[in-house]
Amino acid sequence: MSENINEVASERNLNFLEEIIENDLATGKHKSILTRFPPEPNGYLHIGHAKSICLNFGLAKKYGGKTNLRFDDTNPVKEDTEYVDSIKEDIKWLGFEWANEFYASDYFDQLYLWAEELIKKGLAYVDDQTQEEIRQNRGTVSQPGVESPYRNRSVEENLKLFREMKEGKYADGEKVLRAKIDMSHPNMLFRDPLMYRIIHASHHRTGNKWCIYPMYDYAHGECDSIENITHSICTLEFDVHRPLYDWFIEKLGIFPSHQYEFARLNLTYTVMSKRKLLELVKNHYVDGWDDPRMPTICGIRRRGYTPESIRMFAEKVGVAKRDNVIDLSLLEWCLRQDLNARSNRYMAVLNPVKLVIDNWEDGKVEYFDAPLNPAEPDGPKRKVPFTKELLIEKEDFMEDAPKKYFRLKPDGEVRLKYAYIIKCNSFVKDSDGNVTEIHCTYDPDSKPGVGEWRSVKGTIHWVSEELCDKVEARLYEHLFTEEQMGAIPEGVDYKEYLNPNSLTIVTAYAEPALKDDKSGIAVQFERVGYFYKDPENGAYNKATGLKDSFKM
Ligand code: ATP
Ligand code: MG
Repeated sequence: MSENINEVASERNLNFLEEIIENDLATGKHKSILTRFPPEPNGYLHIGHAKSICLNFGLAKKYGGKTNLRFDDTNPVKEDTEYVDSIKEDIKWLGFEWANEFYASDYFDQLYLWAEELIKKGLAYVDDQTQEEIRQNRGTVSQPGVESPYRNRSVEENLKLFREMKEGKYADGEKVLRAKIDMSHPNMLFRDPLMYRIIHASHHRTGNKWCIYPMYDYAHGECDSIENITHSICTLEFDVHRPLYDWFIEKLGIFPSHQYEFARLNLTYTVMSKRKLLELVKNHYVDGWDDPRMPTICGIRRRGYTPESIRMFAEKVGVAKRDNVIDLSLLEWCLRQDLNARSNRYMAVLNPVKLVIDNWEDGKVEYFDAPLNPAEPDGPKRKVPFTKELLIEKEDFMEDAPKKYFRLKPDGEVRLKYAYIIKCNSFVKDSDGNVTEIHCTYDPDSKPGVGEWRSVKGTIHWVSEELCDKVEARLYEHLFTEEQMGAIPEGVDYKEYLNPNSLTIVTAYAEPALKDDKSGIAVQFERVGYFYKDPENGAYNKATGLKDSFKM
């Protein structure tokens, strides 16, 4: 039966996790599925976590199951409620709802009882060796480890010492609880792994109740098991931990949650380790966790990314069994797909030069109707004022233009978007040779919607110099100059690759309708790119360029 299912699965182009789940549901191994997303609240979520969130919540949704949010808060020193709050906000923003909000710390009592149970079964012992001794005695891949002199303590002594550890009798590092497995096991993780260590520190939820805290390998599988998680999905580096995950569950005889691994998301020009992101924030290389250059969810949200674009990206990346590096431009492509379909359009000039319509009456204003979205030509409109003195992009005028240059040039014609065709008659230069003013005449018969449409090769954007608003625009480049940040040589500091030009602030001259935009998402500055109004400071963050845009 399962072979049949697999055949159908490959025809339907399912990923390996979907195949497993469909199989488990078809064979009745599970009636419904329950996944979990288990962040450690020690930092803000990044785009890699977003991939994991889309996967865990997405699979459950697809198969009519549920997903728990479980904070993996077993290390009181690094964790904080600030992170808990931001993580919840980010998951909601991505568009997902968890069935339950749990904390590994909710299970500290149960985990403690199970540790005593393992001691009683002769499967755990208290070790007095120092951290250094434990490390040295673990051996190497080619050499077996050395058994601890405390390994054969009696059950009674182990219980007494473990209870004393819990009661606070010992200092940090003085004792640990270890599983008693096999000091010469080929999998190093089986060489009597640590289960509990002493940390006299206050915990963000349990306060000072505990001074012993469970290790990841001991806690994770059991937390999954307590919640009856059916498919515990994590990143590839945990595959060597899986046998240990199974070992604890088996020895305790509890609900058999199962772990599955997929390749973590890596992106070009990006670092994603929380430690490095924290360092960038703490040392002010960036302006906080939500700096629009950061790969954090709050950062890319402020940059102008939409939840839809991130979910589309997660879908496109798919689920791999082998590590790889995804091109950052795929993420940008997804954003463009989304914004192209639904963002409002406005004109804004970022690098202006003045253009005077010589045959236009002084003081006369004419308003042109322009659709907010070209996909809906009959949809909502904005009014664009046209006056004698306009601004266009410097790059849209060229004195000695090549033949194929279809924007404005001496004696050449161009259409001002939504408005008239103009012809360049003359221009003025300053003493440095920069063009400071361009003089044109407009063709009154070229008004859109009136008479016969006359087409010219080029169309450029523009604003009225008098009736425009100055706004701040923030232009971004990659935060790092190196494409393969994961492959920089050992010993070289990743911060050496920080891009000094990652942020440029300019003034943009925008048509007046921009200030009334109520869309709440990034807008398109026509021919320039997508810009999102920063909720913090009102500046327009360039989220991404346009696919076929000219280089500004
Ligand atoms: P970091 O190494 O950056 O500190 P982490 O893996 O320790 O990240 P957690 O809070 O433990 O961070 O991660 C929560 C979940 O997100 C885990 O299941 C983890 O596997 C997953 N995850 C973290 N980083 C990525 C990534 N780059 N791609 C896919 N999933 C990820
Ligand atoms: Mg982790």
